[in-house]
Amino acid sequence: MSVTSRKYKPPYFVCETCGKHSDHLRRDVLDLDYNALGKAPLWNCDECYQRKREARLAQTRFARERAPHEGAAHERAAHPPRDPSS
Ligand SMILES: [Zn+2]
Repeated sequence: MSVTSRKYKPPYFVCETCGKHSDHLRRDVLDLDYNALGKAPLWNCDECYQRKREARLAQTRFARERAPHEGAAHERAAHPPRDPSS
């Protein structure tokens, strides 16, 4: 009779970072590029998501301040300087 919906459905999700129960989780999509080499993105509760996001932003800012020349060179490299054959 009513055996059609026997799929297991957890009443909550568990944050993979702190283990907190939450009724929804966020996947840290900002990690996708960063972890493209193998690490799977984690599901985080809002709290962990925010914390990680802020940590990453701070880190990025720090790295940029630390190596401004590298960043500039990288940006410049994206534009070919001039066509030598012209
Ligand atoms: Zn969490």
